[in-house]
Amino acid sequence: MSEQNDLPVAVIGGGPVGLAAAVHLLEQGVPVKLYEAGTAVASNLRDWGHVRVFTPWRYCVDRAARELLEATGWKMPDPETFPTADDLVALYLEPLARLPELSPVIETGARVTGISRWGADKVRGGGREARPFMLVVETAGGIRRDRARAVIDASGTWRTPNPLGAGGIAAEGEAEFADRIAYGIPDILGRDRALYGGRATLVAGSGHSAANALLDLARVADDEPGTTFIWTTRGTDLVRIYGGGDLDALPARGELGSDVRDLAESGRVQLVTGFATTAIREEDGRLIVEGDTADGLRRIGPIDRIVAATGQRPDLSLTRELRLDLDPWLEGVRALGPLIDPNEHSCGDVPPHGHRELSHPEPGVYTVGIKSYGRAPTFLLLTGYEQVRSVAAALAGDVASADAVQLVLPETGVCTVPGGVTVTGKTFAGCCGGPAPEAADGCCVADAEAKAAGRGGCGCGVAA
Ligand SMILES: Cc1cc2nc3c(=O)[nH]c(=O)nc-3n(C[C@H](O)[C@H](O)[C@H](O)COP(=O)(O)OP(=O)(O)OC[C@H]3O[C@@H](n4cnc5c(N)ncnc54)[C@H](O)[C@@H]3O)c2cc1C
Repeated sequence: MSEQNDLPVAVIGGGPVGLAAAVHLLEQGVPVKLYEAGTAVASNLRDWGHVRVFTPWRYCVDRAARELLEATGWKMPDPETFPTADDLVALYLEPLARLPELSPVIETGARVTGISRWGADKVRGGGREARPFMLVVETAGGIRRDRARAVIDASGTWRTPNPLGAGGIAAEGEAEFADRIAYGIPDILGRDRALYGGRATLVAGSGHSAANALLDLARVADDEPGTTFIWTTRGTDLVRIYGGGDLDALPARGELGSDVRDLAESGRVQLVTGFATTAIREEDGRLIVEGDTADGLRRIGPIDRIVAATGQRPDLSLTRELRLDLDPWLEGVRALGPLIDPNEHSCGDVPPHGHRELSHPEPGVYTVGIKSYGRAPTFLLLTGYEQVRSVAAALAGDVASADAVQLVLPETGVCTVPGGVTVTGKTFAGCCGGPAPEAADGCCVADAEAKAAGRGGCGCGVAA
């Protein structure tokens, strides 16, 4: 065990939460080694670098990272302005990773492909916690095996998108026509513009990524004749994407929802709801997308390209030999599942949680960052920063600090759980003010108030 304590804590992933984890561990005097698969830190953020986030700078920077940076003369950008993901990388995460405290513990171009206990597979019990972790690390120079005392998995979900197929399995033809499908948020106004200008695109999905893509396509269509777009959603209720408008305490997110609603209502985009994609076929060199609807099979097209804004899922392969306890359908941390289930919640409001909720039956393993939410789409950076502060304190043996979790998220008007939700024995109120007055038309106080004021509602309800 003492040999183990000399080993570093392995942090997998150099995104904003993984980097913050390393800072908090260093602050606690705990040796750390951070593995980043990309050739530079924050490689997932760089992929959607053109997207402006909807939380201002003050919600994007970790407290401990900020203090470390400010000690070197770094200046926090205007806390009330909204960075793009590229801004987050250039103005915050790259300077952070370059700090003399951090840079020696970061290895880029190092992909962890498997984690186990030395000499003990998942089945083997007796004393497994006395064995160090074994990480299989792939680098340009070859594959090696590293030892670690504990593992913090902050590897995100971005590179494992959900397929277009509505059943969670690739639609017929999805692999065959992959060169005409973009997953996530392509840079439609920038590097990918030539692929979309003057062409017909189908955008599938009902989240903020779909909204971004649709609004960008509308801008291209303003300039380039012949640019058309169709929007399909699997559900029929668009409250989650339309959001709470001016009730949303993250105004930029409310505005995105309102803008996409205006676009849909303007008739410039053909909106097909209740469309469960089953197949993609080629006819005369163009694509036809087939799906099940309440009225039977429907064929949409011809189109030239597809944007699959269908969300992401965690890659569970690297932790397969570890004893993890995951939510059965979200595949995130089990304790968080009931709080973030998109069947019930549409916002990112979660009660404070830390090392206890993020741990697993395998001692010394924590899932943090957006991966802790699994398939749920509502993760906010502030949540991740408090997660890793608590986990680092726990690994340093400071249980009091690890248990003193404080998470103050921006209030939001786009979610509710009337009556509250119960998790690990505690009940938390829904965030829309509780059930609506009996006589009112609404599912909660905020919904009723929004409708009385002539708006569509607070945006809560079952996500599409
Ligand atoms: C379009 C979009 C907009 C968002 N807007 C906001 C917002 O406004 N406000 C907000 O608070 N949050 C927002 N989020 C949510 C969240 O904050 C981000 O997704 C954030 O990037 C999550 O940080 P992370 O560190 O958990 O994961 P990531 O940023 O995804 O980082 C994971 C890192 O791990 C690396 N990695 C992956 N696998 C391995 C491996 N096997 N070995 C080694 N390294 C690996 C990756 O290369 C990557 O660098 C947004 C997310 C998206 C997608």
